[in-house]
Amino acid sequence: MNGYINSFQSMGTVDGPGVRCVIFMQGCPLRCVYCHNPETWVTGTGVQVTPKEMLNRIKRYKSYISKGGVTVSGGEALLQARFVKEFFAMCREERIHTALDTSGCIINDDVHDLLDVTDLCLLDIKMTTPEEYKKYTGVSLNTVLKFLDILQEKSIDTWIRQVIVPDINDNFDNIDRLNDILRRYNIVKKVELLPFRKLCLEKYKEMGKPFPLADTPEATPKAVAQLQKAVIL
Ligand code: SF4
Repeated sequence: MNGYINSFQSMGTVDGPGVRCVIFMQGCPLRCVYCHNPETWVTGTGVQVTPKEMLNRIKRYKSYISKGGVTVSGGEALLQARFVKEFFAMCREERIHTALDTSGCIINDDVHDLLDVTDLCLLDIKMTTPEEYKKYTGVSLNTVLKFLDILQEKSIDTWIRQVIVPDINDNFDNIDRLNDILRRYNIVKKVELLPFRKLCLEKYKEMGKPFPLADTPEATPKAVAQLQKAVIL
């Protein structure tokens, strides 16, 4: 079985604990207005690899990632859940820590199997109302909350992540709603609020696509820090 890979980072330090190899999968069903990686959206392109080939590549970095591990990100990794599951199962045999960075937007048998070999989930809760979620990502908040229920049932440690975008979710009502969600899940160990940035403008230009938030200012570290302080974790 082949997976379609968009890109690979050998020494990542922001996608899970420790130093990690990060694999960015090709294909994403969401269309987040602030997406930094529109080149990952299309399915069926990218570099094809087998789980074993991916593992062999990772093993070259084994001494560097011994206290970290591997993170599979996207695009949306759940679109290729069977490939990621095979790969994570091999990583576990090698005692390499596995983290899944996902929007939690797909639930099926393959996704269940994948979660059974996942040590840590980095789950985006992009917005905290169903209306905003639909408006700014194109999919349903309800699926994400069901995904969180499954993580809870399977007792998988979870970090929640949310990009803070000025004039969209940079407010304390959003954090109150996020806290209401967090109170229901003791698997959540950490919450990371991340500032909206516009480093992707050039990419959109090259792709001939308009960036929906071109006129929105970047989030300031101070504003994000204030919101982060209000998070209960
Ligand atoms: S889930 Fe990630 S890759 Fe997909 S559109 Fe949203 S930000 Fe972009």
